[in-house]
Amino acid sequence: MRDKNATSHKFSSLSPAVWRASTVVFDSFEEFAARKERQPDGFSYGITGTPTARELERRIAALENANHCVVVPSGQAALMLSVMAFVRGGDHLLISDSCYGALKTFARNWLAQMAVEVEFYPPTIDAGIEALIRPNTRMICMESPGTVTMEMQDVDAIVAVAKKHGVKTMLDNTWASPLFFRPLDHGVDLSIEAATKMFGGHSDLLMGSVSLNSAEDYAVLRETQSIMGLSTSPEDCFLVMRGLETFPLRLQHQSHSALKIAQFLAEQPQIGRVLFPALESDPGHDLWNKQLTGNGCLLSFTFRKEDQAALSAFFKALKYFPIGASWGGTHSLIAYYPASEQQARVFTTTQEAIVRLSIGLEDPDLLISDLKQALLTWGR
Ligand SMILES: *Cc1c(COP(=O)(O)O)cnc(C)c1O
Repeated sequence: MRDKNATSHKFSSLSPAVWRASTVVFDSFEEFAARKERQPDGFSYGITGTPTARELERRIAALENANHCVVVPSGQAALMLSVMAFVRGGDHLLISDSCYGALKTFARNWLAQMAVEVEFYPPTIDAGIEALIRPNTRMICMESPGTVTMEMQDVDAIVAVAKKHGVKTMLDNTWASPLFFRPLDHGVDLSIEAATKMFGGHSDLLMGSVSLNSAEDYAVLRETQSIMGLSTSPEDCFLVMRGLETFPLRLQHQSHSALKIAQFLAEQPQIGRVLFPALESDPGHDLWNKQLTGNGCLLSFTFRKEDQAALSAFFKALKYFPIGASWGGTHSLIAYYPASEQQARVFTTTQEAIVRLSIGLEDPDLLISDLKQALLTWGR
């Protein structure tokens, strides 16, 4: 028999409970028959989460200054959920060329095959986006700054155009995080975070979130999450909540270090461009200054000349930068994006190969001396 009193024992702690369930048990025939009425917030089946997922959603919504939040198993799932909930065949979808690669691939190879009119636009289009609006434009996707090439988008200008034409907006806010930018406060409809990055913070899980204010859209998102089978693990929800406890402190440290390292790199003769909007030399600096209250821990740069062998030697010489994708963890990381990838974009920001650094919790001076010695392998 199930213990109906299992939760009535006097117990409290500082950490949230991990509730596991596929089956949710009902008190009566009537309650079971009416179970669907418990959505979008309540519990009727494990697919929409247990109180553990709901607690994580409550905490993320608080950070985002949002009324509602839906968590899903990855940042990519959060991007897909936002689009799939609202875009249908016959609709026109505008996607910034700075958006996450897998979202662009999904749009190109799936949505476009399902009669969605997919159109990429230059990230720095600003209010010029009005010229691209069609009668069937349904949604504008933004990512600012773009997390490989770091273009800043004028979110306020794009949102103003979208509102005028009744178009929904979504913004991938992973770089800034709600600590430095709150999309909903700027009128964006859906704020996306890859919680895999700064929220989780330890390179050991995947999670994504969509935060929003509209109760009507929240019901649609919750149903879509359920129908697409995007259920999250309660253990992973717990780990993201643990990550959130230290997230502001980690990001403060990592963002200060990232700025210091960007400033160092900008002065090195081997480096071409440092792509990082917190630097005054960056073309997106004014917008960054206007919109954001801090910088993320992720920066990119190009080398002055293209040289595969020298790149390989540079990566090998680094002692504190393991090579890998993803970012936002406690350990610094280095990643590489070949020139061909940039040249294949519809709207390129640079034709050159990109090296991307995620700055972790290590001492920034140690990281700078590591970069300094590795740059010596490159020569001048
Ligand atoms: C990593 C990332 C994603 C995807 O998140 P996953 O959890 O890895 O699927 C989406 N957007 C941005 C900006 C990211 O950096």
